[in-house]
Amino acid sequence: MGSFKEFALSETMINALKKQGYVSPSPVQTRVIPKALRGTSLVCQSATGSGKTHAFLIPIISRLDLNLHRLQAIIIAPSRELARQIYDFTLPFRDFFPSLKVRLFTSEVGKEQNQEGLSISPHIVIGTPGRLSAMLSEDYELDLHGVKTLVLDEADMLMELGYFDEVDSLFDKLPEKIQTMVFSATLEEGLKAKLAKYISASFLYEGEEDKTASSVSHHLVDIKHAGIEDALIRFLKARGTYLAMIFSSTKEGVKKAYEALKAAGLNSVVFYGDLDERERRKAIRAIKSNAYQFIVCSDLLSRGIDIADVTDVISLDLPSDNAYYYHRAGRTGRFDRHGDSWVFYNRDSLKKPTELLGEGVPFDYYELKGETLVKDELGLINKRRFTNKKKWDNEDEAREIKIAKARTRSDKVKPGYKRKTERAIERVKGKYRRKAIKENIRKAKNEAYAKKAKKK
Ligand code: AMP
Repeated sequence: MGSFKEFALSETMINALKKQGYVSPSPVQTRVIPKALRGTSLVCQSATGSGKTHAFLIPIISRLDLNLHRLQAIIIAPSRELARQIYDFTLPFRDFFPSLKVRLFTSEVGKEQNQEGLSISPHIVIGTPGRLSAMLSEDYELDLHGVKTLVLDEADMLMELGYFDEVDSLFDKLPEKIQTMVFSATLEEGLKAKLAKYISASFLYEGEEDKTASSVSHHLVDIKHAGIEDALIRFLKARGTYLAMIFSSTKEGVKKAYEALKAAGLNSVVFYGDLDERERRKAIRAIKSNAYQFIVCSDLLSRGIDIADVTDVISLDLPSDNAYYYHRAGRTGRFDRHGDSWVFYNRDSLKKPTELLGEGVPFDYYELKGETLVKDELGLINKRRFTNKKKWDNEDEAREIKIAKARTRSDKVKPGYKRKTERAIERVKGKYRRKAIKENIRKAKNEAYAKKAKKK
């Protein structure tokens, strides 16, 4: 990693960054900042926690004409919490750029207050699409002629939540040749098609980043047939986490886990869709001030939000859309600090973990035994894979079982006859199970060797 000094940044900006403890740019900042400083439009696929917010904030602030009391940059984020977070990231810059004016436009802030905000002629506005487009069109005549940069943050989520109509109508009001910067964790075809309107000649595709940060270790935890809440409490005792986010895909799951933690006397807070506006704000404030050790939440908190120092992410189940697993895991291991992502599973829930393994998530395996976590070399998925027998082996096995049964059968029902038959059957089954395991391990090894040879 180089230094921020290698970019064409002012001395004041370098000092502002230094004051915040930022000396070396992150990889996404290294790629984006030089282009963004030149006013180039770009699309950047970047994981959360990669430092992407500063990748656009630093060039935006650098390119502002602070003597001009005019709106020059608009940043759109899909949720109030995310918009607030971007806004908070701008605050430390004010010490170094005292005339910098930034306004936040979300439903979190009252409409009147929003209007007052506009009358001060901010240089940058940050907001959610609904409130932003309403404020900039309906009642208030804001001069948009000076806007030179538009940022769409978490564009895939903007699309998922159906916000592109608002974004479109806002975009139509902006000057023609502006710089557009789009940041998105994923870049599917549907999104790319939508983005064509925003990014044309200077389109730049920044290429794919790893979906999972290398600073996160991924683990599958076999909770056997224990209840999820019971397993959770035992897991937390076994693990001794510092700050954990606990995810469930269902409202019921979130509620039950939160109740269980409370009942166990653990210092926890809950965040999910059922909370009203005020409760949400309160929860976010408490979470950010590190008032709780355990945050039980739905996937509402799986994206964007920057909560410092989360050491463990625990998925009590997996979301139906795998993308959300990556977002969840991205809550920890931020900025190259080490983090752990734990997923509860058992024999009845192998489908999703198998899919994620197939997508390249490097899971290792644990079993939860009482209140201890025990490393499991193979894991349930491999155990099952290794005992998958070939069709003809199944046929041979069935035949041998028939023979074993016939051999132990007798005209007279002798004592112990049943047990003898069972043992004979078990012997045959054991033989074929071992055969399958050996065969599959041999295959797995061959595959691994072949892969290694290819790499060389
Ligand atoms: P983000 O991906 O924008 O959510 O940022 C993740 C975290 O990294 C935030 O807490 C930032 O304060 C922090 N951060 C951003 N840029 C840097 C940097 N160059 N050096 C150290 N930390 C940074």
